[in-house]
Amino acid sequence: MSTIFSQIISGEIPATIVYQDDLVTAFRDINPVAPVHILVVPNKAIATVNDLVEDDERTAGRMLLAARTIAAQEGIDESGYRLIINCNRDGGQEVYHLHMHLLGGRRLGPLVAR
Ligand code: 5GP
Repeated sequence: MSTIFSQIISGEIPATIVYQDDLVTAFRDINPVAPVHILVVPNKAIATVNDLVEDDERTAGRMLLAARTIAAQEGIDESGYRLIINCNRDGGQEVYHLHMHLLGGRRLGPLVAR
């Protein structure tokens, strides 16, 4: 099923795109929780991590490589950052188009709320 992220990738809906290649797109989160908050998403609409298949191996790997590139672009590679992928209800996933949050620019604190 198509989500708002597919429309951002295709350019139908505006977003601040910071990186795009043949497999992934990255854009600034509309509601940032850190000075740097970027979403790295596959161009192909994959709903969740559960929906990844063997053929998506290059895409999944590219998400990490893109995050590395963007972190350097944003100047937070040395200070550090966090990559998060939420899956389904308990993971807190809201948009059902696979995405990795790239967060940085400040000390992020504990991994999860207790
Ligand atoms: P999730 O909770 O699914 O892991 O994260 C979804 C993220 O997408 C949230 O951080 C939310 O702020 C962001 N988001 C939702 N709708 C839009 C949108 O239309 N544009 C952008 N740039 N980000 C969005």
